[in-house]
Amino acid sequence: MTTSADATFSYALEPTPSPVPEQRRAEILANPGFGLHFTDHMFTAEWTPETGWAAPTVKQYGPLQLDPATAVLHYAQEIFEGLKAYAHEDGSVWTFRPQANAERFQRSAHRLALPELPVDWFVGSIDALVQADRAWVPTGGETSLYLRPFMFASEAFLGVRPSKHVTYCVIASPAGAYFAGGVKPVNIWLSREYARAGAGGTGAAKCGGNYASSLLPQQIAAEHGCEQVVFLDSEQHTYIEELGGMNLYFVHDDGTIVTPASDSILEGITRDAIGTIAGDLGHTVEERRFGIDEWVDGVSSGRVTEVFACGTAAVVTPVGALRWDDGEVVSSDGEGGKVTMAIREALIDLQYGRTPDTHGWMHRV
Ligand code: PMP
Repeated sequence: MTTSADATFSYALEPTPSPVPEQRRAEILANPGFGLHFTDHMFTAEWTPETGWAAPTVKQYGPLQLDPATAVLHYAQEIFEGLKAYAHEDGSVWTFRPQANAERFQRSAHRLALPELPVDWFVGSIDALVQADRAWVPTGGETSLYLRPFMFASEAFLGVRPSKHVTYCVIASPAGAYFAGGVKPVNIWLSREYARAGAGGTGAAKCGGNYASSLLPQQIAAEHGCEQVVFLDSEQHTYIEELGGMNLYFVHDDGTIVTPASDSILEGITRDAIGTIAGDLGHTVEERRFGIDEWVDGVSSGRVTEVFACGTAAVVTPVGALRWDDGEVVSSDGEGGKVTMAIREALIDLQYGRTPDTHGWMHRV
C-alpha cells in the first residue's frame, strides 16, 4: 500500500503483524522513562549514487542486519537528530520546528560526507512514523514521543572513503517528564583536560563520534557528583562552548541573557527558540564569546543571576553548581530562578499548544 504524506513525498506502509499488546503499551506509556521502549514501527530509506534516495517505507520495528564490514562500524560515518511529538488537549499531535531539524540534518550530512536528505523527506518520514504509531504518543504532564532520525554508512567496505550505500532510519520512543519530581538544578563539571570539538572539526555536526568522545569526561563528571560536563574551546581553554548534550544561557542582573558564540558547538533548536522567546519576554539576547572567568566571577559578584541549560530532551534546566578540581560556584541550590522558569514555561506552553503559536513553529502531524 502506498500512502501520501504530502504532495511530493510518498512511502510504502507495511503494518506490523505483531504490535505490542494494548495492555503492555498502556503499562509502558504510564511510566516510559527515556529511550527505553520503542514503538511498533520504524521508517527506513536507502541511498546509492545510482538510485538517490529510494525505498521509503514504514515497517515493523526490529533489528537491522549488518555485515561485519559495514563502514559505520569502523569509521563512524553517521549523523542523527532528536525531536519530539507532543499531544495537545484536543487530541491532535504536533512536532516543534521539524524543518529546523531537517536543515541541521543536511548540514551534518554535508560535514560527514553523507548524502543530504530532502527536507520534505525528513519531515514526511516523521509524520509517517508518528501517524503509524499515533497510539504511542503519551498524554498528560510533560510527556512526549521522542523521535530519533539517523543516517549511516551501510556499505560493506573497509576503504576509507564516503560510503556508496547509506541507510536513513527513524525510530520513536515514548518519553516521560524529564523532571518527574519537579524541576531540579543540574550540577556541572568543568572539563579542562578534554575538549569536545576543535576548530575545523565536527563540533557543529550532530554525529555519533562527538558523543563517543564526551563519554569519558562525562564519567569523570559523575565521579564528582555532576550530571553534565561543560566544555571549553580547544585552543585557548577559555571560552564556554556547551554541555555534552545541551546549550547554555547566562542570565544577567540587567535582564540581558547571553549564550556562547562558537563555530564548534551544536546550534540547538531550543537555544534558537529561546533567543526569540526571551526577546518576546522583554530580555536583551546576546550571542557572544563568553569566558569561564565571566561565569565564575559573574556568579560570585551577582552580575550573573541565573544559569540554565537547554535542549530538546531537558527543555530548560536550571544549573546548580559549576565544579572544578578545587572549587565551585553555585548559581541555584533550589528550584530554577525566575527568568529560567518563565522562559521554560513559555516554551512548554507553546509546545503543548496552551498558547498561540505566534512564530509558526508548530507542525501538525
Ligand atoms: N548541544 C548538543 C551537543 C546536543 O546534543 C544537543 C541536543 N540535540 C543540544 C546542544 C541542544 O540542541 P536542541 O535544542 O536542538 O535539542
